[in-house]
Amino acid sequence: MAKGDILALHLVLLIVMMSEAPPEGIKHVVPIKQVEKPIKITEQAKVELQSSGIMDEKGKLKLKGVSPKMLKRMKLEAVDCPVLNSEIGFMQCYVCKNFFSRPTGKVYCKGDPI
Ligand code: SF4
Repeated sequence: MAKGDILALHLVLLIVMMSEAPPEGIKHVVPIKQVEKPIKITEQAKVELQSSGIMDEKGKLKLKGVSPKMLKRMKLEAVDCPVLNSEIGFMQCYVCKNFFSRPTGKVYCKGDPI
C-alpha cells in the first residue's frame, strides 16, 4: 500500500472516530430499545412534558415537526437509564434534565444525579 493511501486511510479512521465520539460532558451513551407496550410516564415527567408543551391536559403527546405516526413509535421506545437504574420510556428520558441529544439509536446522557 502506498504511503498516500495509508495516510488517507488514517484520515478516514480519524473522521469515523471523531463522528462516533460523544460530545464533552456526556457520561453515558444509552442505546434506545424497542418495547412491546408503552412504559408508564411518571407524574413528574407528565408535569415536565405539559410545561414544555409536549403533552396537553388530556395527556396527549404533541411534538412540533413530529408526525403522529412517529410519536406513536417513540412511545414504544425505552432506555435502560444508568442514573435511575431502571427502564424509562423515551418520552420521559427526552424531558429529563440529563438529556443532551439523540443521535441515531442512542441517547447522549449527561449522567448527573436526579
Ligand atoms: S437522560 Fe435522564 S432518563 Fe435518559 S438515560 Fe439519562 S438520566 Fe436516564
